[in-house]
Amino acid sequence: MCFDKKHTSGIIKDIVEVANSQSSKDLFKFYQFEWKVNNGCAVLFWEDIWYQGKSLMISFSKLYSLSLWQNLELSMFLDIWDCYDHTSLVFWKRKLRAWELNQVDCLNEIIKGVSLNSRKDVLIWLPGKDKYTVKEGISLMGFGNNANIDSWNFIWKLKIPPKVQIFMWKLHHGMLPVKALLQSRMRNSLANQNCCRCPDSETVLHLFWQCPFAFDIWKWLFEWWGLPSFRIGSDISTMWDSYRCFRDRITQEVWKTTLGACVWTIWLERNQGVFNNKLASRENVSSLIKHRAAQWCLAAGFLVKETLAWWNFNPMGCITRSISLKKLDLLNNGCALTGFIDGSWKLDNKGVIIAGIGGLILNQEGKKKLEFAGPTISLDPLHTEWAALIFIVDYFSKKNLNISLMIYSDSALLVRSLINFKNRGNIEEELIFKVRKKMLRHNIFLKQISRAYNDKADLLAKLGSNYEDIKIQEAQDFV
Ligand SMILES: [Zn+2]
Repeated sequence: MCFDKKHTSGIIKDIVEVANSQSSKDLFKFYQFEWKVNNGCAVLFWEDIWYQGKSLMISFSKLYSLSLWQNLELSMFLDIWDCYDHTSLVFWKRKLRAWELNQVDCLNEIIKGVSLNSRKDVLIWLPGKDKYTVKEGISLMGFGNNANIDSWNFIWKLKIPPKVQIFMWKLHHGMLPVKALLQSRMRNSLANQNCCRCPDSETVLHLFWQCPFAFDIWKWLFEWWGLPSFRIGSDISTMWDSYRCFRDRITQEVWKTTLGACVWTIWLERNQGVFNNKLASRENVSSLIKHRAAQWCLAAGFLVKETLAWWNFNPMGCITRSISLKKLDLLNNGCALTGFIDGSWKLDNKGVIIAGIGGLILNQEGKKKLEFAGPTISLDPLHTEWAALIFIVDYFSKKNLNISLMIYSDSALLVRSLINFKNRGNIEEELIFKVRKKMLRHNIFLKQISRAYNDKADLLAKLGSNYEDIKIQEAQDFV
C-alpha cells in the first residue's frame, strides 16, 4: 500500500496502520477513505481526500509543488484564500504561468463550493454503507453549474443554522415544495393549489413576495430597521441587495441574518397553515422573526446579550452598542496596552503599488495612547501587514517600558507566519526571527481578530497609503 506518511493526517495514518495489520488490505486502501468536510479543521487541504475521491495534491500536482501552504488544514487554507489575490506570491513559490493560472481558476471553483459548518469532520469508509460523499454533496448543491455559484457563495457564508441555509438555497432556486410546484409535478392531483391566505396560486414568488401578507411582513421589517419601503425587493436576489443600504460590515451581516430569519419564518408559518390549519397573525410572525434573528446573531457573535433590550425597537442601536461592548472586551486581554494594526495594499490603474500601514494603541480604559499612519514600500499584502507589525513592535520596544502589549491584526496570514516559521511566505526568515525576539523580550503578543473589529486600523492604513511620510500622534502620558 502506497501513501505518503508525511502528508497524511493522523487519523488516516492510524486507520491505515490497523488495516495493514489485518488481511483486509483491499478494502482498506487509502483511496477507500474520504472526508466529509464539516468544520474543515481535521482535513488537510491538499493532502487528504475530500473532493471527488482524489486528493488535490494529486489532481493539481503542479500547483501543490508550487504551494507555500502545504500541510495546512482546509479551514485555515480557506481563510487565507479569501484574503488575497489567488495568483499572489503569498500562495506560490514563484509567479504562475498561464496554464497554471487556469488551474488556479479550477481550484478556486472547488473552493467556492465548500461550505463549512460547526460540526467535526467525518472520515468515511467508502465501501461501507454510508453513501455520502463530498462529491455527491457538492453536485447536489449545484456545484459545477456556473449560474449557481454566486448564490451558493452568499448563502453558505451566512451565520445561520445549516438547515436554514439549505432552505434558502432551495428558495433561491425555486425548489421549495409550494403547491404550484407540487401541482405541476403531480399532474393536477392536488385539489387546491391556492395560497393559505389569499385566493392566488401558491408559487414561491407569491408566497414570499407577492402575497399581501408577505408584503405586510416586509413592510414591517423595513420600518423596524428604518429603511424606506421602496427598497423592498421583488424576489430573493433583489431583496438581498438591500444589505447595501448599510455601510458597516457587521450591520450588513445582522441585516442578512434577519432576512434569513424572515424568509425561514414565513416558510414555517406557511407550513403551519397548510398542515395544521393554523394561521398566525402578522404581529406573531414579526415577533418570531425578531426572536430568531436575535438568537442567530447572538450565536454568531454579532450581538451581545447586554444589548438585547434595544433589539425590539432599535436594531441599529443594538448593533452599535454590541460593537462598542465587544471592542471594550477586546481590551480585556490581560495586557496593559492593546494595539490594533493593519496594512493596506492595492495596485492603481497604472499597475503601481500603493501600500500603507496604520494602527493605534489604547489603554485598558480605551483611551488612545498612540496612532500612526503612513506609506510603506511593499511587494504584496503580506509584506504590508508585516511592515505594520514591525513598526509597532519597534516603536514600543524602543520605549523600553516594563508593561505588556497585545497587538490585534485581522490578517490570519501574518499571525500564522509569525507562529509558524515553515509557512512564512516570501518574508526572510531572519526578519521574522528578529521580530519574534523583540516581541518576547518586551512582552508583546499578537492575536487575530475579525476584520469587523479592526476598522480603525484599517482606515488609518488606507489613509497612510496616501501620505508622504509616516504620521505619529502620541499621547503625552503614553504610559
Ligand atoms: Zn397569498
